[in-house]
Amino acid sequence: MGFQHPDISAFPEFSMVIGEERAHSGNGIDWGHVYPGTGRITREIRLASPDDVDRAVATAKAAHPAWRALPGDRRRDLMFRLASIIEAGAAEMTPLLTAENGSILIAGGHMSFDAAQKFRYFGGWADKIDGRTVSTWGGPAHDYVMYEPYGTVGVIVPWNGPLFAATMVMAPALAAGNCVVLKAPELAPWSLMKLMEAIHEAGFPAGVVNLVTGGPDVGAAMVGHPGIDKIEFIGSGATARKILANASETLKPVGLELGGKSAVIVFADADLQAAAKRGLSGAVSANGQGCVNGTRLLVERAVYEPYLQMLKAMAAHVKVGDPFAMDTFMGPVISQTALDRIDGMVRRGVEQGGEVLCGGARMEGDHGEGYFYPITVLAGIDPTSEIARNEVFGPVLVVTPFDSEEEAIRLANDSDYGLGAYVHTTNLARAHRVAGQMMAGQVQVNGSGEAMTPCVPFGGMKHSGHGRLGGIEGLREFQQVRNVWVNLQE
Ligand code: NAD
Repeated sequence: MGFQHPDISAFPEFSMVIGEERAHSGNGIDWGHVYPGTGRITREIRLASPDDVDRAVATAKAAHPAWRALPGDRRRDLMFRLASIIEAGAAEMTPLLTAENGSILIAGGHMSFDAAQKFRYFGGWADKIDGRTVSTWGGPAHDYVMYEPYGTVGVIVPWNGPLFAATMVMAPALAAGNCVVLKAPELAPWSLMKLMEAIHEAGFPAGVVNLVTGGPDVGAAMVGHPGIDKIEFIGSGATARKILANASETLKPVGLELGGKSAVIVFADADLQAAAKRGLSGAVSANGQGCVNGTRLLVERAVYEPYLQMLKAMAAHVKVGDPFAMDTFMGPVISQTALDRIDGMVRRGVEQGGEVLCGGARMEGDHGEGYFYPITVLAGIDPTSEIARNEVFGPVLVVTPFDSEEEAIRLANDSDYGLGAYVHTTNLARAHRVAGQMMAGQVQVNGSGEAMTPCVPFGGMKHSGHGRLGGIEGLREFQQVRNVWVNLQE
């Protein structure tokens, strides 16, 4: 039996776009893309090679002077047009999002809408790239600051949400006047290929956005390439370490958006139902593979037991299964390797005293062909244990009780990561007091995903990375500063 396998007849044709050149395949290795819902190959493609990266970079560099010189209102109009084309093409994009990484079909429409919103938001900045004047010290002078694009930005994104991640970078980078060399991840390449069709249709000049589909060797070639002026990397800390070492040769700036182990603090005065629903979303959202998912639940002891019961009851109602089915709320994880990692971490968590509230082992039957892991909640977790400290990147929540506000803050901040933090309370003063002490790049009060909009800055502290995407901070990430001092003294 098993679940529906993707229909590849609607898959995009081009796996590589370099300037005017649209190629079915690159010059690298052969790659069979696996659909995680069935564990079977969808389509074989030939990935890009480091030589293809050379050509993509040369093409982007050649396109840059004209793109940089294009008046901001023209860049804005192109980005607005692109947004409309992405929205109009949502019905075609949605099955590709499911086919590439098993994300549920019912979430797909939102992904196109979100991508369109990013191009609208940053398109709106493209015609407002103003500098500023500075009141000077030390003699009569006129001083001003100008914001310059870097040139060519290399964009490397993970498989868990390629469209989401890539547009989060491309929109501000393009608005600021940069060209882009984008690497589609080998594990989930289809949505970015489709995005390239929309970019072409919108009328972007050839070479402004180039796509290479490839794996680590292609990413490494981009990072080490002297022609790429800045790298924006979204992915794991382990890869980020290699990238920083590689970038040191060319002294290239690198923006890093990395993983997390985001704390969810539930105070006894919270709306418990809402906090449980939002808490559970840390396991369900993106099939448990969202960087900013709240996966470390800290619950005030007075409501610990009722909260656990609510989580358990709600988890039982989430249908895990065929991502193409309209009543499915959670799909598979990305690969057998991921499944083994998740299962191993859960088993060790149990050995270290975790109590399995639900889930806890790989799913069988129809689910057995693909890479399905159930929503798993481990209670009574020691905050120093492996599963409490490390990113699982699967549908697994750990829950620990606390007794005071101070303890909750201490536990939440006791992490190598600092991406998101969630605070559930109805006490306004406490909400702001606690939010202001979270060592995390984005704190949500009584929220769980609403802040992932292009108008607010998003990014990490500590091992979750540095730099921000979204908001004016996201634009600044792709601009460098030129200061001009004009001496007024003859
Ligand atoms: P990964 O680090 O394995 O791979 C990310 C990308 O880097 C892929 O495109 C891969 O091909 C490429 N790559 C691998 N080795 C490389 C190298 N040596 N040089 C250059 N590029 C290389 O990460 P993943 O498994 O694809 O993604 C999961 C991780 O991403 C999780 O840790 C998750 O939290 C994180 N993530 C972070 C954000 C964020 O915005 N902070 C968003 C999504 C995912």
